[in-house]
Amino acid sequence: MSDAVPTLELSRCEACHHRYVPTDGPCPKCGAARAQPYPVPDAGRVVAVTELAYPAPGWPAPHRLALLEVADGVRLLGVIDGPAPPVGAPVRVRLDGATYRVRADEASPSERGEGESPRARRRGPSFEPPR
Ligand SMILES: [Zn+2]
Repeated sequence: MSDAVPTLELSRCEACHHRYVPTDGPCPKCGAARAQPYPVPDAGRVVAVTELAYPAPGWPAPHRLALLEVADGVRLLGVIDGPAPPVGAPVRVRLDGATYRVRADEASPSERGEGESPRARRRGPSFEPPR
């Protein structure tokens, strides 16, 4: 299916409906073992970026990591391919083995019809601490 729209796979817990990655293992919120995988678009937005000047042996230096928010408010950590995007930037993400790889989304906001959305202007994280 070479013409398939690129997607990510998330998990929806069957017990508490929490949505998360990875798609295997128990629900991180309630511990239930059963979850349904479901596809979402491969688009995300940068929440935070960091750069490791001295990464583990065998990793490229500098090694850039981004915390992303993808569909349904799910957050994941990915390795950045290329220059580090700014916080709030739209990105594409794909799963490469067990690693999420992140690259800048080439389409400008106007091309996607997004413009100045409240989401793009948001500065602080919407992180909810666990209860
Ligand atoms: Zn759950």
